[in-house]
Amino acid sequence: MHILCECEAKTSHSHNPLITQFLVQTLYVCEQREKKFVNREKKERKREEKRKKREKESKKREKREKNRKKREKERKKRKREKKRKKRKREKREKKEKERKRKKKKEKERKKREREKKDRKREKREKERKKKKERKTLTLVVDLLTGHNTLRRHLHVMGLSNDPDCRKRGTEEETSVHILCECEALASLRHQYLRSLFLDPEDIRVLGVGAIWNFMEGTGLL
Ligand SMILES: [Zn+2]
Repeated sequence: MHILCECEAKTSHSHNPLITQFLVQTLYVCEQREKKFVNREKKERKREEKRKKREKESKKREKREKNRKKREKERKKRKREKKRKKRKREKREKKEKERKRKKKKEKERKKREREKKDRKREKREKERKKKKERKTLTLVVDLLTGHNTLRRHLHVMGLSNDPDCRKRGTEEETSVHILCECEALASLRHQYLRSLFLDPEDIRVLGVGAIWNFMEGTGLL
């Protein structure tokens, strides 16, 4: 229209219908071209925009994907780490358990050994005691029956010249003299047999242990 106007302004005085028609046609073609061009540009722009948008989205998607992968990786790493720690812990616990078990076993073994030793010692002591008791009994019986190492018996056997008491040599050294009468042994008798002097009949009620202790105290056996 602009071209037409200018044309009209300059050539309004001499109108030629052919020129006008040509001009109009030219104008129309121009307009069409411009329109086409504008449209193409618009389209191009739109396409460009779309492309940019797509690119942007693609980038976003990529970023998302990357993040996701990263997260996934971290998650796996954490999981691995956890597993490793768990394995380590289990190993440690197992070791500790094993150690405790060994310790317990060792303790039990020592206890058993100790008990065995105790039993052995007890048995030994019992046997010793029994032996001693038997010996004591034999000696006391010998003493009471007269078959002893007192001087009187030794004299009778012809093993000693003197039958008299070694503590105070006025009477014969017999079992009855030593156990009941000897004055030199009065205090010892009182200590072990609860009496300064005894009647031979009292010997019946005396304990074997007491008689043995008294005789050991005299030093005559
Ligand atoms: Zn005497």
